Amino acid sequence: MNQEAVIKFIIILFGSILFSQSVPYFDAKKAYDYIVEQCDLGPRYPGSPGQESFRIYLTEFLSKQKSDTTIYYEHTIKHPYEDKNVKLYNFLSRFNLQSNNRIMLMAHWDTREIADRDANPENHDKPILGANDGGSGVAVLMVLAEIISNNELSNIGIDLLFVDGEDMGRSGDIENYCIGSTKFCEVIPEPEPQHAICLDMIADHDLSLPVEYYSYIQAPFLVKEIWAIANEMGYTQFKNELTGPIYDDHRALYLNSRIPAIDIIDFDYPHWHTLQDIPENCSEKSLKIVGEVMCEYIYRKDYENK
Ligand SMILES: [Zn+2]
Repeated sequence: MNQEAVIKFIIILFGSILFSQSVPYFDAKKAYDYIVEQCDLGPRYPGSPGQESFRIYLTEFLSKQKSDTTIYYEHTIKHPYEDKNVKLYNFLSRFNLQSNNRIMLMAHWDTREIADRDANPENHDKPILGANDGGSGVAVLMVLAEIISNNELSNIGIDLLFVDGEDMGRSGDIENYCIGSTKFCEVIPEPEPQHAICLDMIADHDLSLPVEYYSYIQAPFLVKEIWAIANEMGYTQFKNELTGPIYDDHRALYLNSRIPAIDIIDFDYPHWHTLQDIPENCSEKSLKIVGEVMCEYIYRKDYENK
């Protein structure tokens, strides 16, 4: 090591010792179990029995957390492809409401009604379990809710948004994706979050998180900050390279509210929109990587904003 490298090493070491004392432990095993519990309820697309079961489950879970408030939103919409109405349910848990310096973390909890990318065409009209697509982001948010409940924030506020109706669109129909987050934009409460981070499909065994294009356009400062933290922690799965645009909740949120938002997403999941999107194809280790980075980010921000 040359002198510069040694100094850099010492700074990183000192930094990690400093923060390791104040950043709570992220229990990835628990996150994995939350994926299993969601999948045990069956597919959770709008109008399904699983949607109703998870709505009840999440209501109860969030009522046990020490947030200042949990706002529960119900939106009746017309099903985009069927002649019926369905209900969408969004949940917003708000921690440290005194702070105007707020960050929102969001994940969609609905699952796709059709396995339209399944290798077997006979499965194309069957619903997926959404262990990774839906389940993984929600699982990390649930563990974070427990962490923040037990490790009170002093300076910043965190909002956790569990959003419904992300995955109703058919291929190409962008306006029928992200319906829940678009509805949320009509009712965002004060104080509004300053920026937002969306977690989606973060549990692939082979985790790969390049920078999604809209994220970089909408909130470059946030991308740089989070990818730098991840790399500092040794998590090279957060790749410093750009990938194409993905219309996800972070995009709908930004377009409808102007809140700068990014997406942490692994769009390389081989089981995407297939019947194989099941817990066995999810990894506790990947959940640990994303969960730890989020935890580090939240508690660093809290510390920095003293
Ligand atoms: Zn999806």
